[in-house]
Amino acid sequence: MFESLSDRLSGVFDRLTKQGALSDEDVKTALREVRVALLEADVSLPVARDFVAAVQEKATGQAVTKSITPGQQVVKIVHDELVAVLTGDSDPGKLKIDSAPAPVLMVGLQGSGKTTTTAKLAKRLKERDGKRVLMASLDVNRPAAMEQLEILGRQIGVDTLPIVKGEDPVAIAKRAKTQASLGGYDVYMLDTAGRLHIDQELIAQAAAVRDAVNPRETLLVVDGLTGQDAVNVATEFDDKIGVSGVVLTRMDGDGRGGAALSMRKVTGKPIRFVGLGEKMDAIETFEAERIAGRILG
Ligand code: GDP
Repeated sequence: MFESLSDRLSGVFDRLTKQGALSDEDVKTALREVRVALLEADVSLPVARDFVAAVQEKATGQAVTKSITPGQQVVKIVHDELVAVLTGDSDPGKLKIDSAPAPVLMVGLQGSGKTTTTAKLAKRLKERDGKRVLMASLDVNRPAAMEQLEILGRQIGVDTLPIVKGEDPVAIAKRAKTQASLGGYDVYMLDTAGRLHIDQELIAQAAAVRDAVNPRETLLVVDGLTGQDAVNVATEFDDKIGVSGVVLTRMDGDGRGGAALSMRKVTGKPIRFVGLGEKMDAIETFEAERIAGRILG
């Protein structure tokens, strides 16, 4: 579907005469291809532009190494720079859940994969870290969402807070906290309400819940296929609520993962996990190397 950057660049350099160092012209020609590759990978235009400018500075005048072609050399410089920008947290998969019961707040738009990700992370905490986890849905306007979490909980063997009709989100969060303390849970995860768009009420509700429980982690779940929209959502949530990390879902899809680069450049927030499918095990710790490889194709 996409021509890989390495293929593009070897084409470019085949046409150029070999010299002792990468010339300005060589680098410029190559970087035009890099920019196209980034845009095809759904990196936003300003981010692609800045990124290319940074690479240009690093690449110009670099001695051409004998063992690799100039095209491969530029690809390596681009790859290393991608990894540098994408890396945000030395241990992205480690959640700060030391003080039991530790609250973890899950936020994001409806349909982003928030409920699924909540359950996936709960399963991971249970199986990998031996944690006792309690999950609670705060989506009072969508009974189906509350039931969905309950069903997932049964499926993965993780407890959910019993649903009480008519309770508001802050009351549910407080009940989850009490239940987690009394029940000896290590972690309680709060799956907040999602909307199709960010609005005042959504933000106010998430902020009220945040203030009620003081979460150790606030994880924003965004659809990795939505590109620039995902970045706008992250900026807004971080400004209003403050997030400690991002989970990019649907990274099993056709997209090239450019949203990850824009996300890091624009928000500066670490990407902590990637969702790779609908199954409960389809989640992985974010790896900069892997996404860089994918963006390059
Ligand atoms: P929410 O409204 O944000 O809570 O979204 P859900 O958790 O209900 O997910 C919406 C749909 O996306 C469901 O059908 C999920 O199975 C699916 N989904 C969630 N995460 C992923 C993912 O990483 N990859 C794929 N392919 N589907 C996902």
